Amino acid sequence: MATQTEKHPTATLFNYSYTFTPGARPTKVPPALKKIVIVGGGTAGWMAAMILAHSLIPKGVEISVLESPVVGIVGVGEGSTPWLRGFFDSLGIEEAEWMPECNATYKCGITFDGWSTKPGFESYFHPFASMLDNLTMTQFVHNAQARVNGADVHAHPNRFFIASQLADRRMAPKPSRNFPFDVWYGYHFDAVMLGQYLHKKAEQRGVHYKPCHVSDVRLNERGDIAAVVTAEGETISADFFVDCTGFAGLLIQKAMGTPFVSFANNLFNDAAVAMPTPIGDDIPSQTVSYAMKHGWRWEIPLTSRFGNGYVYSSSFCSADEAERELRETLGMLDSDVPARHLKMKIGRVTKHWNRNCLAVGLAQGFIEPLEATALLFIQRTVTGFVEFIEAGDMGEAAQAKFNQRVNDHFEGTRDYIVTHYKTNTRSDTDYWRANAQNNNLSDSLRRLYGLWMSGKSIAAEVGRQEIGRGYPIFSWYCIMSGMGIFPDQKDLRPANGKAALYSMEEIDNLIERSVQNFRPQKELLADIPKKIHEKSLQIYFW
Ligand SMILES: Cc1cc2nc3c(=O)[nH]c(=O)nc-3n(C[C@H](O)[C@H](O)[C@H](O)COP(=O)(O)OP(=O)(O)OC[C@H]3O[C@@H](n4cnc5c(N)ncnc54)[C@H](O)[C@@H]3O)c2cc1C
Repeated sequence: MATQTEKHPTATLFNYSYTFTPGARPTKVPPALKKIVIVGGGTAGWMAAMILAHSLIPKGVEISVLESPVVGIVGVGEGSTPWLRGFFDSLGIEEAEWMPECNATYKCGITFDGWSTKPGFESYFHPFASMLDNLTMTQFVHNAQARVNGADVHAHPNRFFIASQLADRRMAPKPSRNFPFDVWYGYHFDAVMLGQYLHKKAEQRGVHYKPCHVSDVRLNERGDIAAVVTAEGETISADFFVDCTGFAGLLIQKAMGTPFVSFANNLFNDAAVAMPTPIGDDIPSQTVSYAMKHGWRWEIPLTSRFGNGYVYSSSFCSADEAERELRETLGMLDSDVPARHLKMKIGRVTKHWNRNCLAVGLAQGFIEPLEATALLFIQRTVTGFVEFIEAGDMGEAAQAKFNQRVNDHFEGTRDYIVTHYKTNTRSDTDYWRANAQNNNLSDSLRRLYGLWMSGKSIAAEVGRQEIGRGYPIFSWYCIMSGMGIFPDQKDLRPANGKAALYSMEEIDNLIERSVQNFRPQKELLADIPKKIHEKSLQIYFW
């Protein structure tokens, strides 16, 4: 079998570094930065506190988190990307410590089920990459390219990625020690427990905590935040504020008036309903996203339960209809387990860093949870900000550069999420038809679709970052191929010559040999000292 060559821009798939090292460089933290107040104690608030504490407490900066005793956290958000591994690694926190405290499991990627009706493409897996995939990526791209140009070759992504095979067999994406390839993986976790865990760790690391409800935000004459006023009667001033108040966006949006760019024209879903179901011992190692009548349903395996939620568009169905459809699908119609209903505001602020305020988490914006990217935004926003602070650069030019980066990340991710909807071939409801017909697409996305449909390589363009920003090449090939964006089977010609260059049998064998280096998720989790969280379901509904 031919292996990857230097010529192919797609051959290098696994070229990421997921760790960051705030605090590791010599720094020039501005002397005027003495006190930072984070408002909000959800996942965003505590992740921000941990990252900022790691870098800035050793330099004498005081960090406090204020959390309202009356406003709860959103309490969902239980799937991650592989970058979360970098978050914990960089803070020196072992899986063996945090995973059992958060009922966490390993995640190989996400299966999208029922999004396409094209025969053979009704389901596909979006894997997290592994170094090993470098050995099969060239073949995958070659086949996808050949098929889009009419050759009858195998181009469904699942057979080309080890993570997909691991997920199929409920294996954890952590190889044995002697396996020479690194594998990227993410996690599933209980959102409430993760918040509690990070809260505990942050206090241990010197972050101050004050339960209080912010009722007013005072700006000075320049428009900076001077202080927040609490319902308990205190006025709390600081040099810098971090808005982690969730969808309320109390500081960045309400007080500072930072404009919000809605993505409602591109992404229709604006609500969700969630409920847990029991899980057995044989815990899956993937998230599954099932297409529903007016949206999609997540199924996330934790050690204690499945988290399930139906993300839908309130323009196409009511909350009651959504709950009924979710219960029906889960076999929970007669169950008295309560369902939680949530509203989602989809879009982003124009400036994530505005004067002396940084918005993090839902306060800065949200792209619906289809690819579980929100925690990655939190992490990147705060680490990116720390890089500027550590360089002593907090001026307007720095803010503009930072905001451009974060906005690019938002737009790129939005485009990838939009592609799931735009390429759907369902016709069973108005919701799916409206999504397929939606032409509110960015120029970048139009160019990418144009290249694909004309049979040209998208790799070079994605690589140049001019299109398809936010996601790597293999993800774009996975989604276009996985959704079956190819000529119909009847229009394909038998593969011969160059089109038939690669043997699927050899690819299967290569992956099969590699799979032998992995173990079932349940075995791996059993190795981690386990805490039994009998209260998990109650905590979920606090
Ligand atoms: C349906 C759904 C599914 C999701 N799934 C995923 C996923 O799979 N993966 C992923 O990465 N992300 C997911 N997310 C996003 C994820 O849940 C959030 O990004 C994450 O939980 C961070 O939320 P937050 O901390 O910004 O806001 P919240 O959790 O809402 O926290 C807000 C905090 O602000 C405090 N607060 C509010 N007002 C005040 C006030 N006046 N004074 C003081 N404190 C105040 C509250 O007390 C609370 O502590 C999902 C989101 C939704 C809606």
